[in-house]
Amino acid sequence: MPAPALPPVDLRSDTVTRPTPAMLEAMFGAPVGDDVYEEDPTVARLEAAAAARFGLAAGLFCPSGTMTNQIAIKAHTEPLSEVICEQTAHVYLWEVGGIAFHSGASVALLPGERGRLTAAQVEAAIRPTNVHYPTTRLICLENTHNRGGGSCYAWPELVAIADVARRHQLPLHLDGARVFNALVATGQRSEDYGQLFDSISVCLSKGLGAPVGSVLLGSAAFIQKCKRLRKAFGGGWRQAGYLAAAGLYALENNVDRLADDHARAARLAAALARQPYVAEVLAPATNLVIFRLHESQPTAAFLAHLAAHGIKASEFGPQWVRFVTHLDVDDAGLARVEAALAAVGS
Ligand SMILES: *Cc1c(COP(=O)(O)O)cnc(C)c1O
Repeated sequence: MPAPALPPVDLRSDTVTRPTPAMLEAMFGAPVGDDVYEEDPTVARLEAAAAARFGLAAGLFCPSGTMTNQIAIKAHTEPLSEVICEQTAHVYLWEVGGIAFHSGASVALLPGERGRLTAAQVEAAIRPTNVHYPTTRLICLENTHNRGGGSCYAWPELVAIADVARRHQLPLHLDGARVFNALVATGQRSEDYGQLFDSISVCLSKGLGAPVGSVLLGSAAFIQKCKRLRKAFGGGWRQAGYLAAAGLYALENNVDRLADDHARAARLAAALARQPYVAEVLAPATNLVIFRLHESQPTAAFLAHLAAHGIKASEFGPQWVRFVTHLDVDDAGLARVEAALAAVGS
């Protein structure tokens, strides 16, 4: 009998993690109730705990980060208004054009440096009052930045952008799908983020390892408005406490360990830099490694080679590939990836 195949090393995304036995135990034991009646104590605990971490008043548990972002954008804008964001922002590029669909709003797209905007760029994009223009209503940042290869904002730039927002009386939203990766990598503090941002969306289902869910954070009045929007989006849910329990477990146990994912991403980047068929690696700041293959190395053949070695990865544009480290990629898995990379073309 051949040896049983090893489970795949799945580097496609940090969304692929399965709950651990301890997380499942927390889920099975959760007290629950009907959350539309606001009677689910575990959902309430998760929302309060997540908000408290960021020094914000209230939270709203939703099925996805797309929903938390789109609800927040709708709550902050109205038709004929405009959202300022980076041109490869998830809210624009990967949420199905939802800003136009849900909010009837326009988008001002700015070219960032690995997804990061400057305060000067943001300020220059704010529309003057003129009957021809949409009205600027919202500034939206993403940290870490997905398309930017997990890049993080430096604290002074965040402060400067928040200052622009305050001076122009514009709300500032954070797509913080991976905000804990940014906090762990930079040593910035979650409480300080609550001072800068009017709303923050946090994914529990990415690096934190919960199976489902995101939380939207903000003031009590803002979250009340968002709760009505969530119902209209079809996102009012019932005994969601079983899922909220996974989120609570993730917040309590899986934040500090993100540093391990970052170290493994750095190790993958170093291994990639040694390969003759790799043209360029974006230095990973967190858990995303984006790299470009030489023209002579077809992407499909590279991904097929990895697949034959039990490794899954995603194409991220012509000749570009993304590797993502997470809870279910350990050092043994990493060694398998390093061996497979060294064996390309042999
Ligand atoms: C994954 C992601 C989202 C959306 O999360 P889903 O739960 O997949 O809808 C939003 N923003 C960024 C930056 C993401 O990476």
